[in-house]
Amino acid sequence: MPGQILVIDPVAANRIVLRSRVTASCHSAVQADGPGEALARAAENRPDLILLGPGLAGEDACDMARRLAAAPASRGIPVLILTRSFSPDTVRDALLAGAEDALDPGAQEGFLQARIRCLLRHRGALDEFAARSLTEQQLGLGEDRAAFHRPATIALVTQQAVKGRAWRAALTPLLPHRLDWHAPQAVLTGSAEDGPGPELYVVEDSPEAPDDSLRFLAELRSRGATRTAAAILVGGPGPGGSESVARRMAMALDIGASDVMRHGFAVEELALRCTLQLARKRDGDRLRNRVQDGLREAMRDPLTGLYNRRYAMPHLDRIAARAVQTGRRFALMMVDLDRFKLVNDTYGHATGDQVLVETAARLAENVREQDLLARIGGEEFLIAMPETDLDNVRRAAARLRRVMADRPVAAGPERLAVTVSIGIAMADIPAFRAPGALQAPGLAMRALMEQADRALYRAKAQGRNTVKIGRSAA
Ligand code: GH3
Ligand code: MG
Ligand code: MG
Repeated sequence: MPGQILVIDPVAANRIVLRSRVTASCHSAVQADGPGEALARAAENRPDLILLGPGLAGEDACDMARRLAAAPASRGIPVLILTRSFSPDTVRDALLAGAEDALDPGAQEGFLQARIRCLLRHRGALDEFAARSLTEQQLGLGEDRAAFHRPATIALVTQQAVKGRAWRAALTPLLPHRLDWHAPQAVLTGSAEDGPGPELYVVEDSPEAPDDSLRFLAELRSRGATRTAAAILVGGPGPGGSESVARRMAMALDIGASDVMRHGFAVEELALRCTLQLARKRDGDRLRNRVQDGLREAMRDPLTGLYNRRYAMPHLDRIAARAVQTGRRFALMMVDLDRFKLVNDTYGHATGDQVLVETAARLAENVREQDLLARIGGEEFLIAMPETDLDNVRRAAARLRRVMADRPVAAGPERLAVTVSIGIAMADIPAFRAPGALQAPGLAMRALMEQADRALYRAKAQGRNTVKIGRSAA
């Protein structure tokens, strides 16, 4: 996925080299020579990633990263630092300044590209969720980061227990989280029913069995229970030298590691990376939950909690398609409250609302799991019953009529006699099979709904509190 990358370096020659490295992978680049221009470019172009070039001395690069993290135009945009004075301390300072990583400018091309891809992929995923929701502020991302410091569970995944315990002992003083050791196999065979799994996996890369850690990451990403967990791969010197480690770390990032440590276990650096990846994972979770809540709200009627018309209509088409496949008929019911206007006029709208809520609850208790129950109008409910014959739907409708009529509805101090009228229509499978029915699935369904509606009117005309069956079904 090509992204827009802002390259910052005071030295023109560095900018040119970085620009060509970046554009070689089809990303587009904009450049800036210092802080002022950088902030202007960030505001103007909203880049996906910022690359700080080696022309900035280590401390200047960290200052720059801090300024970018604080400025509204660039806040939240991942920053990578390329620095000549590369050392574990530089990496730690870079992370503390809010950068994602610090790399040697001579870092293997493949590794740099994989690092960039990983950051762009993460950003793309967040953008997609954010686009489906509202602004970042409304999504709560503007909220205090302190909310992210609640304790998490982190899994330390190493072949040998002794190593896992050593990592735990080193990390424990630095992190307020629960740290558990797991053997790789135990993670992969664990069941999702054991409760919510760890939010972060810190995985040992074993140079003796280099494929194992990559396979483990791929497995994590393929399982529902662990797919959204963060994962940090801790590399280390191996037989193939640093080049082979860099190559493997690049693959790990492409497979789905959230972050990697190429230079082996360094406790302070790892603790910082854990904190960053946990915060990011929780950002992602919160966005995902909000999108899901939003979808749920869009399908539900807020008063009764039943499905609304928007959900019901496409769902009816699915029920019809299934009936065509199985050859088993389905039934529709239109349920309408009798003289409901009178309830509103006599007792007020709030009492009317309570009657609707109670009616919805009684209907919901008396339909099957596989039936669709929706509130499709003010005091009108639709029920679709898959795999149902006329006898069954008749009995079901009679029961629904009774559960309303037999017992008054309590609404505040009132006990109200509330009844419903019901119209039934049985689906005629050949009508849904007819030529053109698949192209316009709504057509046969509309005819069926009209049939149920006409039956409902007849029930009303015959005195209400009655069930009637649509003509072609009788
Ligand atoms: P009928 O037996 O012929 O169905 O008579 P009715 O009074 O139930 O039918 P009508 O269609 O005349 O009135 C429906 C009423 O439902 C009118 C409207 O005020 C009321 N209504 C619709 N939606 C709501 C709602 O969300 N809350 C309340 N309290 N009333 C609603
Ligand atoms: Mg009515
Ligand atoms: Mg009505």
